[in-house]
Amino acid sequence: MTRTLLAGLLLLALVGCERAPQVHQHAFFALGTLVEVSVADPDPQRASRAAEAVEDIFHEDHQLWHAWHPGPLMDLNRALAAGQGAQPHPSIHYLLERAAPLAERSGYRFDPAVGGLVRLWGFHADTPPEGPPPDADALQDWREHKPSLADLYWDEDQIFSRNPLLQLDFGAFAKGYAVDQAIARLRALGIDNAIVNAGGDLRAIGRRADRPWRIGIRHPRGPEVLASIAIKGDESLFTSGDYERYFEHEGRRYHHILDPFSGQPATGTTSVTVLHTDATTADAAATALFVAGPEHWQEVARAMGLRHVLLIDAAGVAHLSPAMAERIHFETDPPPPLRISEPLP
Ligand code: AMP
Ligand code: MG
Repeated sequence: MTRTLLAGLLLLALVGCERAPQVHQHAFFALGTLVEVSVADPDPQRASRAAEAVEDIFHEDHQLWHAWHPGPLMDLNRALAAGQGAQPHPSIHYLLERAAPLAERSGYRFDPAVGGLVRLWGFHADTPPEGPPPDADALQDWREHKPSLADLYWDEDQIFSRNPLLQLDFGAFAKGYAVDQAIARLRALGIDNAIVNAGGDLRAIGRRADRPWRIGIRHPRGPEVLASIAIKGDESLFTSGDYERYFEHEGRRYHHILDPFSGQPATGTTSVTVLHTDATTADAAATALFVAGPEHWQEVARAMGLRHVLLIDAAGVAHLSPAMAERIHFETDPPPPLRISEPLP
């Protein structure tokens, strides 16, 4: 939680250091993170009402999508585990519809069917686990059954799983979807200039008066800002990092972004940042590219239709798409070693 707070404060620090007109700020906790809504609007009452409407959305989503607190997702997971069909809550139905093509395009590196694996590692709990890692037999069992979203099928309005180990966990992209919902609500309420920032992951629309919103990207190995980027009009910036939830055991770090194929935390990467129009895609993609790692991120980025990617590998090298290299400004002195990829179409 301290880390997500930090991410939020980093953003505020960047936003705050510019002299600018009144920006209404509203902060609350939901979906396991600090959410900050910044609204630049000439009407303070409208700004405040809009920010509160965003808070309502996040609290509702929190209750609907929680994978290990009683609610519709837990009910669905229980039915799937028992081999029964179930009619998912409409918002879960929608999440499943959005997840299916994203998972497929990612080569199932992003796959919300990893709920059982997340639980095995203990990353489902409110506080990060202390270890040790799960035993080898349990992981072998996972690899043998290897649940995937492709194991789900519909029979009229009921959903079923062919795989009894399939448990859903939307943690890798629910925040993105909530941010998209929030921006849609702000727009419906007449707001054109705002940021919805969930623990450092955000979507920004419009401008901060006479200048664009400028956003900080956290250094994966320190509290400082690694880089910053000016948001153009309507864009989302999402980062997946191995510093967000992890435990250490016998000198090794075990973090929460799991490779569904090995059953282990993905290796070779410390953070991935994706800039994209919609937050749902950016969030799913950051997780998928983290799993893909320095060797395979470009093919997954192409398949997912991304143009702006930054991946920091385990040696601290920054891998960038050319479009991202044009937009990003490194804030560290010296900047990290850079490796710029072939253009992504
Ligand atoms: P993020 O921080 O967006 O990368 O999401 C990480 C969270 O998504 C974890 O805490 C898990 O709940 C879940 N998760 C972990 N690995 C995966 C994966 N490969 N695909 C989908 N969800 C995952
Ligand atoms: Mg994600």
